[in-house]
Amino acid sequence: MQSFEYLRPTTLTEVGGMLGKMGEARPLAGGMTLIPAMKLRLAAPTALVDLSGLPELAGIKSDGKTVTIGAMTKHADVAASADVRKLIPALAALAGGIGDAQVRNRGTLGGSIANNDPSACYPAAVLGLGATVVTNRRRIAADSFFTGMFETALAPGEIVTAVAFPVPSAAAYEKFRSPASRYALVGVFVAKTTSGVRVAVTGAAPCVFRASAIEAILNEKFSAETLASLRFPADGLNSDLHGDAQYRAQLVGVLVKRAIAKLI
Ligand SMILES: Cc1cc2nc3c(=O)[nH]c(=O)nc-3n(C[C@H](O)[C@H](O)[C@H](O)COP(=O)(O)OP(=O)(O)OC[C@H]3O[C@@H](n4cnc5c(N)ncnc54)[C@H](O)[C@@H]3O)c2cc1C
Repeated sequence: MQSFEYLRPTTLTEVGGMLGKMGEARPLAGGMTLIPAMKLRLAAPTALVDLSGLPELAGIKSDGKTVTIGAMTKHADVAASADVRKLIPALAALAGGIGDAQVRNRGTLGGSIANNDPSACYPAAVLGLGATVVTNRRRIAADSFFTGMFETALAPGEIVTAVAFPVPSAAAYEKFRSPASRYALVGVFVAKTTSGVRVAVTGAAPCVFRASAIEAILNEKFSAETLASLRFPADGLNSDLHGDAQYRAQLVGVLVKRAIAKLI
């Protein structure tokens, strides 16, 4: 690991200033991805801006229609939240199924979506629910936030402060997990929202995406039978040591059907 400066701001204004002035400075959340990446020399920031000194970045609020979760909220706290369990149980279950107890007690919502790992679970919920990502500068619709593998719409110096999840009438997350890490080999988030059915797929491609062909079928008729003959195309899907593109395409179809079975 190369040497770096450690900074612990206590206001968002300080965060913006530190990230803006320090060259290769990076925000630090739970360190679950960033620290191993630094140890492996895949990342070499000149400074770490630790967000843990800003209590306003953590916590869960709800007005019954929207659940707003602070960027520094740990996965374990989302999984245990009475509000999330009541209003968006699929989101609580997703958080409770991430990694292991250590990861869930260090890893954060903001770190997960800013990192945008192709196999991460939260991006599927953010996109599937049509959430809004709130930053220190603006609000970004989920459809515009995830732009590519490990890439997002965040600009240099911009941090996620919270995510606002609209409460769906029903939602389910199904993942086929890697037995070692529990990352999604494929994960599918299906939500019935005010703007129709949304289906977001993670793990299958370089970046989380909406399965618009499946959404169109489900918006006609929400039933597993309508998808009986579905053959999800393997074009553009990932092939690696965990599974090839055809395998992942097959998993998308199976997991969508499982999610729908939970919702009917
Ligand atoms: C063993 C293991 C198993 C895992 N299994 C799963 C799994 O099953 N499913 C899953 O979804 N994830 C999984 N994860 C990932 C985990 O959930 C973490 O959320 C993820 O590693 C990010 O960690 P972090 O929140 O500590 O962020 P950090 O590692 O601190 O930061 C990650 C990146 O995001 C940036 N960042 C952090 N916070 C912000 C912010 N608020 N605004 C802007 N940028 C920010 C950092 O600069 C860095 O680039 C696993 C991780 C490990 C180590």
